[in-house]
Amino acid sequence: MMRGLIIRAKSGFYTVKADEDYYLCHLRGRLKRGPRLGDIAAIGDWVKFTPLEEASAHTMNDFPLKGKGIIEEIEERQRVLSRLAPTPKGEYQQIIIANPDQMVLVFACSQPTPRFGMIDRFLVIAEKHNIAPLLVVNKVDLLPHPEVDEQFSVYRTIGYTVFYTSTKTGQGIDQLKSTLINKISVFVGPSGVGKSSLLNAIQPDLGQAVCEISHATQKGKHTTVERQLFPLSAGGFVADTPGLKALALWDIQPEELDGYFPEMRTLVADCAYKNCSHIDEAGCAIRAAVESGEIHPRRYQSYLRLRLDEEDQ
Ligand code: GDP
Ligand code: ZN
Repeated sequence: MMRGLIIRAKSGFYTVKADEDYYLCHLRGRLKRGPRLGDIAAIGDWVKFTPLEEASAHTMNDFPLKGKGIIEEIEERQRVLSRLAPTPKGEYQQIIIANPDQMVLVFACSQPTPRFGMIDRFLVIAEKHNIAPLLVVNKVDLLPHPEVDEQFSVYRTIGYTVFYTSTKTGQGIDQLKSTLINKISVFVGPSGVGKSSLLNAIQPDLGQAVCEISHATQKGKHTTVERQLFPLSAGGFVADTPGLKALALWDIQPEELDGYFPEMRTLVADCAYKNCSHIDEAGCAIRAAVESGEIHPRRYQSYLRLRLDEEDQ
């Protein structure tokens, strides 16, 4: 048996990368037995597979296939980015990506106006799934540095890594490129912020390649979803996550939300009530911290909106 990484998944077929060779695999039947509460395999999964006959000069999505194979075993996942989809039989765990090392949140400081509520939502998702977030603030050529800083320095204060980039001036591109090496990075963010331009700056044509798959997936039904990890020539992979911007928080309980705001996490023990919602209780340490300026009011607004299940701003 050989060991490899699933880099592409579509309609029950998995492209597995083992060293520099690619195999088109399907799952051994016994893996599919039993009650199905979620996807069995996904991009980012490490698997053991039995190689079958050699393929003759066959390629699939630019991957030259060395042969076919049967996946025998899926290794335990370290992390997973998933969503729970309600079905008549119960909740189904749809795996967006297995074993992501970091989540790259791409936003523009201007054009379009940053949606801080969406940034905070992604950060909560990253915290929930234990995936290191990296905030990339693109188009910094459009605003004077102090104005960019005024809007985004709060994230550095909280402890997040923030990069300022511009695909027009090249600022921050090398820094971004080097943090992707040998990692699986998931890119998220609204459209128009320059995600494709950034990917192209990292590696020629990467933006288009990622976009094509995203569009195909957005149009497809769940069963035809196509997901892919894109290899970087410097080592590592990037993946896009179409549909993630609409990812609801229904797999996060309202009571656990404060644990996903690092600047609140340490203060909740000081609230007068043990199960304080930090909305209107007396003796709330979180609201006191908002008033003293220790917690940014915008972050607290995001907390409230998520807690009350309201739309992002
Ligand atoms: P995507 O929808 O996030 O993939 O965004 P695109 O890469 O398609 O970029 C959207 C628009 O923003 C295009 O017109 C780009 O030329 C422009 N753009 C991308 N990056 C920058 C940047 O760093 N500065 C400026 N001023 N414009 C940018
Ligand atoms: Zn409280």
